[in-house]
Amino acid sequence: MAKPSVVVVGAGVFGAWSALRLARAGWRVTLVDAYGPANGRASSSDHSRVIRAGYGAIDIYTRWATESLADWHWLSRQADIPLVEECGALFLGEPGSAHLADTAQTLSAAGVAHERLTASAVASRFPQIGVIGLGEGVLESRGGVLRARRGVQAAVAVALAAGASYQQARVLPLDESASAPVVRLSDGGTLSADHYVCACGPWLPALFPQAVGARIRPTRQEVLYFGVPSGDARFGVAHLPAWIDFASGLYGIPDLDAHGFKVGIDRHGAAIDPDGADRIVGADVVQIARTFFARRFPALLHAPLVDAHVCQYENTATGDFIIDRHPQWANVWVVGGGSGHGFKHGPAVGKHVTDLLAGRAEVEPRFALAGTAVEAARAVY
Ligand SMILES: Cc1cc2nc3c(=O)[nH]c(=O)nc-3n(C[C@H](O)[C@H](O)[C@H](O)COP(=O)(O)OP(=O)(O)OC[C@H]3O[C@@H](n4cnc5c(N)ncnc54)[C@H](O)[C@@H]3O)c2cc1C
Repeated sequence: MAKPSVVVVGAGVFGAWSALRLARAGWRVTLVDAYGPANGRASSSDHSRVIRAGYGAIDIYTRWATESLADWHWLSRQADIPLVEECGALFLGEPGSAHLADTAQTLSAAGVAHERLTASAVASRFPQIGVIGLGEGVLESRGGVLRARRGVQAAVAVALAAGASYQQARVLPLDESASAPVVRLSDGGTLSADHYVCACGPWLPALFPQAVGARIRPTRQEVLYFGVPSGDARFGVAHLPAWIDFASGLYGIPDLDAHGFKVGIDRHGAAIDPDGADRIVGADVVQIARTFFARRFPALLHAPLVDAHVCQYENTATGDFIIDRHPQWANVWVVGGGSGHGFKHGPAVGKHVTDLLAGRAEVEPRFALAGTAVEAARAVY
């Protein structure tokens, strides 16, 4: 019997892991990307991403992150590239933070190793961190950092080794009123398969203006890399965890591969066109980071900016993913809405997509298109 076929559109983290899982499950996979795996415009670009299982009270992300961590290690072995640094993930909260209490409770219920630290325990464990205004911390010992771009490219390489093929081409917006999907390419070609997995990140509204449209809003997000003090290893992954400071809305990644101390601002920025936007960071953002350093990382107050990156979140209203059938076609799958936290979950998303196509899983209500609101009401942090 002929193997079933699938076209995966988008070689970001969601599409790459979907292609990998489907190819290993015996599907004939064609992976297509307009610009290349983890290209400089994609949400999955850049050097690093945080991996952590703590998500407040929302346990599906805790479970998926935990499963995904094991799979990122598996991919590291397959590709012979160290993709994971388990330097820990430290959540920093205001006094009495309900989010931190919920996070600790969910991690306990899921059996994820963590410690609750008072502000003074944070200061003695990590003297690099200033604790003014800090309530407490939750430290997830097996959280840490993923090498993002290399991870996506490794997933594509392993998918190709498992029999998938890759094509660089742009899929044109689909005619959503047609009785069957017709996948046309910008070079005039077409692609046809039994199923279509569309994992186009911030481009999903352009591909499906009706089914997705305003349900995903791409916003401009800036990350900064600061040079660490000369001869000082305290800000590297060997000595510091990745961290999220909920009160300020800033998060960061310690110096990884000598790239610099990374800081990002999690607050949603202005709307962005992922194709045409120039990617130049604003001086105001650098100032926000420096003001924060004065309180939280005083030794970096005068650290020079050594690199910067403008990316985009592809936000759903709540921050939940969309993983569902297109309302018009049973064999077209919309996979996206990573909303600033999706990267780590790539392996679990790929597995869920594979199970959905094989009829082994139901659409998870949290990720249903029909349930996705348009008005922003962020609930996932
Ligand atoms: C600054 C920043 C920091 C983040 N930090 C974290 C973090 O620490 N931890 C975490 O887990 N997550 C984080 N995220 C979120 C995470 O990176 C994203 O949710 C995730 O990468 C989204 O992946 P994706 O595959 O859906 O989209 P993308 O990576 O954007 O991939 C979509 C792909 O589809 C291709 N494509 C689009 N349209 C077409 C078309 N018509 N035809 C052909 N190809 C097409 C594009 O070229 C692209 O390669 C962060 C995101 C940003 C921007």
